[in-house]
Amino acid sequence: MKLDLNIQPLSSWIKTSSEPLLIAGPCSAETEDQLVATAHLLAKTGKVSALRAGIWKPRTRPGEFEGIGSIGLKWLQRAKAETGLPTAIEVANAKHVEEALEAGVDILWVGARSTVNPFTVQEIADALRGVDVPVMVKNPVNPDLSLWIGALERINQAGITKLAAIHRGFSSHEKSAFRNEPMWDLAISLKTHAPELPIINDPSHITGNRDLIGYIAQKALDLDMQGLMIESHIDPTVAWTDAKQQVTPSALVDIIMNLTLRKPEI
Ligand code: PEP
Ligand code: MN
Repeated sequence: MKLDLNIQPLSSWIKTSSEPLLIAGPCSAETEDQLVATAHLLAKTGKVSALRAGIWKPRTRPGEFEGIGSIGLKWLQRAKAETGLPTAIEVANAKHVEEALEAGVDILWVGARSTVNPFTVQEIADALRGVDVPVMVKNPVNPDLSLWIGALERINQAGITKLAAIHRGFSSHEKSAFRNEPMWDLAISLKTHAPELPIINDPSHITGNRDLIGYIAQKALDLDMQGLMIESHIDPTVAWTDAKQQVTPSALVDIIMNLTLRKPEI
């Protein structure tokens, strides 16, 4: 089955600073200083094309840090003004979309806990109608390719053509070295259905473990995925969310430098 998506190439909406395309930044914006300082270090690496940070955090269980909220939009504006890095955040409802667009966020993404819910995805899609902003759609938490495809279709049918998928792995109750199982076959299958759709790999949420990020990132590049989204924090040991999987900007450079880029076929 070939999907009927109307897609613009990744190069039309994100400037690749260096190969591979890399979106990086903290799991959560925690304080203005943490976000801005991390952004400066990431920009200095010369390897990062966009700054990610969650300001509204969908937590599986209540009682944990649920994101700094709208104030984070101002911090992102400052980080962008000072570093030149385009910004990317997760949106989970129409209000998030409106606030993000109003604040000039450059790239939006739909999180794994939203992709599972067609009502939520449709609400986000409706809020995006008539807007020209790039949107990335994470796979749903559960290994259901149709939900992932359906979310991409809903966003695309709302007129978003700067579209990408993010492969962040799938929940499983099997014992595993990974926080989320990569289930590569599902990402490969998406690529077969929609060859023109860029797929960005998120080794941070797949592994849940900074020591395994390079391994998964390499595999993603070997499978011809178009980019990586990696969580990076100025001091991961004190991160408020996802501390075990975040890396310092300098560790991020080490990971990237150790990747082998695929040579073009002759
Ligand atoms: C995130 O990117 O920090 C996040 C919450 O990811 P996911 O939706 O993949 O769990
Ligand atoms: Mn995270």
